[in-house]
Amino acid sequence: MSAKPEHKDVIIIGAGASGLFCAAVCGRRGRSVLVLDHARRAAAKVLISGGGRCNFTNLHVSPANYRSRNPHFCKSALARFTPRDILSLVEQHHIAYYEKEAGQIFCVKSSRDFVAMLDQECARAGVEVRLACPVSDIAREEGFVVTTEQGQFRSDSLVIATGGLSYGNLGATGFGLDVARQFGLKVVQPVPALVPFVFPGRAQAIFKELAGVSLEAAISCGGERSKGSLLFTHRGLSGPAALQASLRWTPGEPLLIDLLPDRDILAILMARRRSRMELRTLLGEHLPKRLAEVWCGLMADTKPLDQTSDRELKEIAEGLHTWRVLPKGTEGYGTAEVTAGGVDTDELSSKTMEAKKVPGLYFIGEVVDVTGELGGFNLHWAWASAHAAGESA
Ligand SMILES: Cc1cc2nc3c(=O)[nH]c(=O)nc-3n(C[C@H](O)[C@H](O)[C@H](O)COP(=O)(O)OP(=O)(O)OC[C@H]3O[C@@H](n4cnc5c(N)ncnc54)[C@H](O)[C@@H]3O)c2cc1C
Repeated sequence: MSAKPEHKDVIIIGAGASGLFCAAVCGRRGRSVLVLDHARRAAAKVLISGGGRCNFTNLHVSPANYRSRNPHFCKSALARFTPRDILSLVEQHHIAYYEKEAGQIFCVKSSRDFVAMLDQECARAGVEVRLACPVSDIAREEGFVVTTEQGQFRSDSLVIATGGLSYGNLGATGFGLDVARQFGLKVVQPVPALVPFVFPGRAQAIFKELAGVSLEAAISCGGERSKGSLLFTHRGLSGPAALQASLRWTPGEPLLIDLLPDRDILAILMARRRSRMELRTLLGEHLPKRLAEVWCGLMADTKPLDQTSDRELKEIAEGLHTWRVLPKGTEGYGTAEVTAGGVDTDELSSKTMEAKKVPGLYFIGEVVDVTGELGGFNLHWAWASAHAAGESA
């Protein structure tokens, strides 16, 4: 006769950012908690996040920083777990942090400190974590029965914290979405986001020429504008401004790039319109020289400014503020920082993250259709949604 499955109050699948944090919150409430992960290492994405320094929150977190089919869904969890809350925890663990820019908070030393904090919080709360433990089946019968390579486990509550699809080499899978579908929950089509753009033939050749050039720019698409550093790559466009734009971009839509977002280039051109200077030389004073050369070669005649009409100068200025480029697509899940889309928020309680149709089943973190902008917002959603579920599961 097979042994009776071990029983826990809560099983959490996924020992990443949201899973570990939720486990600690549940454990502190006196719940017995088991965390299962198929990877050999917990919180692999947290370790590499923020270039190894983990941009773990943003001082300016607000619902406006998140995309979802239901933009109101994230409000309750964010209101109940704020940047101050995660900073207090970090301070209790004596982890030094700093604000890089625009409210983005990073660890001074390493994201390893942050992961050690999550491990300690779980250990203190009596949480059991089993790594290298693939899950083969989930069944619902008086609670949940989870079948793994290390045996069967039963629980009253089951929390799915398996994250998004990007960076498969770090253990990402579509497991959470499969579980949602198994229980009849709707899923918003997942897409890679916070990801570089790639361009077709001719444009790619142009960007290749510019590979390595970066500048402060603004990109408009999806009715919004993102400002920040823009980097030309061998395949297309990257850097924070491009990654941020990818969150709103829909295939087939052009990007409008403002190469001089903080300057009135028309006024600068008009002031020099009697000069014999060539446009590329003047633009080289305001843009990286290689970009000025390539852009002029593409978009404007090479003639001295005093031979350029006012109308032409106006067109040039407009072109510099709204350079229209049409991406072929994005680099995809291989390099995307996050997955947009996921478990449809209509299916979940915004207070607890519990599935409305399946009492006891919770979804938290990136697997949910809530996606943050660049700058610490995705990890903050992991903490906030984990906290909401951890208070209830
Ligand atoms: C390169 C990079 C840099 C980033 N930098 C930042 C940053 O600085 N700031 C920020 O806010 N966000 C950043 N992000 C995004 C952030 O890391 C994620 O949004 C966040 O980790 C999501 O938390 P999560 O708990 O939902 O998923 P994860 O942290 O990804 O955890 C999911 C866990 O589930 C496990 N799992 C998956 N499938 C299964 C399965 N079938 N069975 C068992 N276990 C499974 C995985 O092994 C993993 O341990 C970055 C992402 C990347 C890829």
